[in-house]
Amino acid sequence: MPEPRLPAIAVLATGGTIAGVQSEQASAAYRAGALDVSELLAAVPGLGQLAHIRAEQVASVGSQNMSYDVWSRLARRVQALCQDPAVDGIVITHGTDTLEETAYFLSLVIRHDKPVVLVGAMRPATAPGADGPANLFYAAALAACPQARGRGALVVMNEDIHYAREVQKISCAGVNAFASPNRGRAGVMRGSQAFFYSGNTTVHSVASEFSLETLETGGWPRVEVVHAGVDLGGDVIEFLAGRCQGIVLAGVGDGNATDAAMQALQRAAASGVAVVRASRTGSGRVGRNGEVDDDAAGFIAAGELSPQKARVLLTLGLSQTRDVGKLQAYFDRY
Ligand code: ASP
Repeated sequence: MPEPRLPAIAVLATGGTIAGVQSEQASAAYRAGALDVSELLAAVPGLGQLAHIRAEQVASVGSQNMSYDVWSRLARRVQALCQDPAVDGIVITHGTDTLEETAYFLSLVIRHDKPVVLVGAMRPATAPGADGPANLFYAAALAACPQARGRGALVVMNEDIHYAREVQKISCAGVNAFASPNRGRAGVMRGSQAFFYSGNTTVHSVASEFSLETLETGGWPRVEVVHAGVDLGGDVIEFLAGRCQGIVLAGVGDGNATDAAMQALQRAAASGVAVVRASRTGSGRVGRNGEVDDDAAGFIAAGELSPQKARVLLTLGLSQTRDVGKLQAYFDRY
């Protein structure tokens, strides 16, 4: 009998703790993105039996420094690899700090059904019990798995599979730092097998109306987040309103803030800045016209999106329109 063909997986490396090196093993100090992709792959036992791997270094950054420039290059490579019939799936190694934003962004601009799996690690590659090699093994296995097709970008951390729209880094430490607080994880990895618990019911990939080209030709709209709390003044919002096309409120509770902040946001909205109300709580759904009268204020409600994902969607949305009704429709749809 002929040997079954091994899947072909492309690994795109961007840096992060998964490629991090400590100054000494007992130390918490380390440098993210220090190892190159060949060194990461060499540390994963059994990878060669799982898939034919080809690897590229797209960037070497801690993901706190992820940029629109790297996003552009990454999205272009992912799209090209998706269109290459010799590639079955794509893995992206990434720092964990902004991994959820990159995953969500890719799920909205990549026009293909091929598996795209993002993965990181909470411990540097040189740490005792480094989680990177296991996470990378599961990511490659998932990218090779036919059931991973058509679900948009996926994230694998600590044997859990997450949908890009749902996943959040919920802790700054520990290997169990990722969760999907609103809808639950997508599934789990057991060995090289993926078990999905749910379908991805949200809009992404081929059904998305956003494109990298629109952002690149029209420029990336500037959107910033204001974090609400006790006694927040309106001056920070006024400052941002003069510089941004969009402001996301990481509001208290159901997307709320002090009267002074809300009045400043209302003035910003009246002057043409798109204002989105999200919640700083970490889960739940910010709907329209609860305690805040969004219709009167001209605000957009973020629904289930965290402030950081609302920032991604508003950036994409503003590359297409400044119409508040249309922007709200994006938040209802994506
Ligand atoms: N600061 C690192 C990064 O996001 C943290 C990590 O990867 O876990 O690149």
